[in-house]
Amino acid sequence: MKCPFCDTEMIHGYLNCGNAIWSERKHKISTLPDSVEKYALHLETPLLSPHHIESFCCPKCQKIILDVSEYDHNLD
Ligand SMILES: [Zn+2]
Repeated sequence: MKCPFCDTEMIHGYLNCGNAIWSERKHKISTLPDSVEKYALHLETPLLSPHHIESFCCPKCQKIILDVSEYDHNLD
């Protein structure tokens, strides 16, 4: 995959993480979304090993692109 910002070939890898949420707001305590916020990549605390989110990292401009389409969201 080519970086959409600088066209450099990106490095395939995984975001290794525990519970997480991408949200339009900052969460102070928990990662549970409320009823009105838009969110994506909502991950519960893993039971065994960390979550492994397939992704690409640009070695030049150091941006990471995540495909989060298979994870819990309410963007529709
Ligand atoms: Zn780049």
